[in-house]
Amino acid sequence: MSVLDPTALLDKAARGERLDHAEITRLYDLPLGDVAAVAHGLRLLRADPDVVTYLIDRNINYTNVCNVGCNFCAFYRTDRQKDAYTLDYAQISHKIAELQAVGGTRILMQGGVNPKLPLEYYTGLLRHIKTHHGGIRIEAFSPEEILGFEKFFGMSADELLDVLIEAGLDGLPGAGGEILEDEVRAKAAPARIRTEDWFRIIDVAQRKGLYTISTMVIGFGETYAQRAAHLLKIRDQQDRALATHGNGFAGFAMWSLQTAHTRLAGKAPGATAVEYLQQLAVARIALDNQPNIQASWPAQGFKVAQAALYYGASDLGSTMLEENVVSAAGGHGRHTATERELVRIAHDAGFRPAQRNSFFQIIRYPDAREMLRPAVPVASD
Ligand code: SF4
Repeated sequence: MSVLDPTALLDKAARGERLDHAEITRLYDLPLGDVAAVAHGLRLLRADPDVVTYLIDRNINYTNVCNVGCNFCAFYRTDRQKDAYTLDYAQISHKIAELQAVGGTRILMQGGVNPKLPLEYYTGLLRHIKTHHGGIRIEAFSPEEILGFEKFFGMSADELLDVLIEAGLDGLPGAGGEILEDEVRAKAAPARIRTEDWFRIIDVAQRKGLYTISTMVIGFGETYAQRAAHLLKIRDQQDRALATHGNGFAGFAMWSLQTAHTRLAGKAPGATAVEYLQQLAVARIALDNQPNIQASWPAQGFKVAQAALYYGASDLGSTMLEENVVSAAGGHGRHTATERELVRIAHDAGFRPAQRNSFFQIIRYPDAREMLRPAVPVASD
């Protein structure tokens, strides 16, 4: 039976006991400080209490041509627009070389759903990267793109992923999750991948051993009950994956909707910093089977991301030497970070910064005192 009395519910959450839908929904009505304290306590138990991790990576958006046309997207173009583009292999190689020069370990490569590109473009690109940039992990093609490939190439996700893995694919980004409730998705983006297909494709990817990450975007005007339902679907998928083959989501990333230059500008409420922190804390409590929870500095700014380290987050995401999608819709003014800036955020919040790989394993502990000397001005938001 659901526990809805505030004190009893917070005690249950603090003990790390699993909450149901009614209990998770109830958390949104409780004082934020109380919920945050529970979330931070769980973060200290479920992830290394002394360490805050980050990844050195780069987003590469290989094409902005897309036939899905989400109302919240300012990035996509039709192939007739003057600024439509598709990168060639040499342009992508140049970007990866820049990443390798600063010690980066992975690329997050996504694009629009471009009906003009043949399957050979993707397989050739993966092979090109593996040949010329050994050691770089390729996490590419969100479930939305894989769904598009199924339609374009007449193949199932199962068949496609075999071909893409053989060519060099290491993982799938979790983009396209937003709120995995079709009522919300239908309003925000009528042609967007539906919940069932998102989980179907993630499930195939996980069964094949690919890296995946779970995501959430708030601010569409969704209800607390819909947010709780989203978290439970993520948690259920993680339970299934861990029980059947052990390859679940590596982590959870959550950010707030950005609507500048989109058809949702002035129509969707977005989310304040306080709502973001509240949602992060609720996610930490609800997702008892995911130890690695990210703070989002691109959408929230460095200072809110630093505060998020006390609301359940244990990771600062990545440097993102390049980011084009959130920034096209506004973001928070900064869309790339240096390693030193992420180290500073973690160090100044009282944690030991650590560079990680995609699977949240530590690669190295930078010497924060040395790296931060001479004093770096605090990055302004
Ligand atoms: S969010 Fe992705 S799928 Fe939707 S329009 Fe933009 S590029 Fe296309």
